[in-house]
This record gives sequence, C-alpha cells and structure tokens, in this order.
Amino acid sequence: MPELLVSMSYVGRTYRRGEHSVVALDSATCHILSGDRIALVGRSGSGKSTLLHLVAGIELPTSGTVTWPALGARETLRPTRIGIVFQVPSLLAPLTVVENVELPLLLAQADTQDARQAALETLDQMQLTALAEKLPEELSGGQAQRVAVARSLVASPRLIVADEPTGQLDHPTARHLFDVLLASLEGTDTALVVATHDKAVAERMQTIWQIHSGILEGN
Ligand code: ADP
Ligand code: MG
Repeated sequence: MPELLVSMSYVGRTYRRGEHSVVALDSATCHILSGDRIALVGRSGSGKSTLLHLVAGIELPTSGTVTWPALGARETLRPTRIGIVFQVPSLLAPLTVVENVELPLLLAQADTQDARQAALETLDQMQLTALAEKLPEELSGGQAQRVAVARSLVASPRLIVADEPTGQLDHPTARHLFDVLLASLEGTDTALVVATHDKAVAERMQTIWQIHSGILEGN
C-alpha cells in the first residue's frame, strides 16, 4: 500500500514586496504518495519553487495546511527524509565531492565511516567515482548537478524534491542526469517531484501537475 508522504490542503503563499503582495500560490490542494513520479510544469514565475519549498517544509504557508503523515514533523524532514536538488549550483565550495555527498548523513549524526561508505556507494551508482576527491570548481555543470543528485539520494530519503535540476544544462547532459536519477530510484518506493520546463522530462513521469499563476490545476 502506498503511504501518504505529503498532504496539502488549500495552501496559499503570499509574499510581501513593499506595499504590494504577490500571491505565489493560491489555495493548492494535493497529495504525494510513496512511489509517485510527478512532474510540475509551469512558466517561470508560476509558483513551482514556492510549491516545492512548501512540500519540502523549507517555507511555511500563509494559509492552509501542509502535513507529512508518513514522514513526521516538519523539523525532522531534512536532510534525511526529504532530499532536495536545486536549480542553481549548491555544492559547498571548500568540500570535496565525497565530502559534499556525505554531508546529509553527518548532519543526521551517522557514524563517519558509515557515512563515507554510503557516499562512495552513491557516487558509484551515479557514475561519479572518479570525481570523489575533486572540488566543486573542478566540475562541469552537468557533473556538479549529478553530485547534487547523489547528495539528495545518499540518506535514502522517502521523497526527492528537484527544482528544475536540469535547467542550466544542455539537452544531452540534462537527459543523462535524468536517466541516472530515474535509474537510481528504480525498485525503490521513494517518491520524486520534479519541476521542469523540459517536455521530454515531464513525459517520462507518471503524473503531470500544471501550475499557472499560482493555481495548481487538476488536483
Ligand atoms: P517559479 O519557480 O515557477 O519560477 P516562484 O515560486 O519562484 O515561481 O515564484 C512565484 C511568484 O512569487 C513570482 O511572482 C515570484 O516573483 C514571487 N516570489 C517568489 N519568491 C519570492 C520572495 N521571496 N519574495 C517576493 N516574491 C517572491
Ligand atoms: Mg523556480
């Protein structure tokens, strides 16, 4: 039986900007179950990042409720129950690739040897073993995003939230990143929600959510 990982009821998020306010998300209701593969599609500024940040518990709604029935309280979600991949480079510059990847486990107070072992295994799975001792500045954009994906996977989270993870990559590199991400989730019930502009990516997912001007359709 799939488990209910995230439940959003009538969730809104308004940002204040001086005297104006922007409704980034307007009364969104949706559910994420274990094993789900969801593409979140919408134009720039439509509210994709806002929705994903609320799903991951990074931001709080200004109306409505978000709960994580099978995951627990918001404070306990990251970095091990929910993994996040951002659009922009997010590796820590002074740390090597393997140190970046083991970080979620160290933050969760795993044993240092176990953390290193798990990081090396995840790097292997993502075909990144040769880069383990490199610094982020030595990586191409595609390699850096693959490392960020490895970091999001290392603690075997129940949900991966990826915010346009291939947005800054050329098409073949984007496709390769997505191939290894999907391959590494195969046979697991880890859910994946990915915001994307890329039709080819969206079509490989089981469910497509459309968002227009803060309104999530068809949920
Ligand atoms: P997307 O990821 O689809 O491009 P976002 O969720 O980033 O959309 O943004 C939705 C809307 O909310 C946009 O109009 C954006 O300018 C606004 N917005 C997002 N974050 C903030 C913020 N921190 N402060 C003010 N406005 C914001
Ligand atoms: Mg965005």
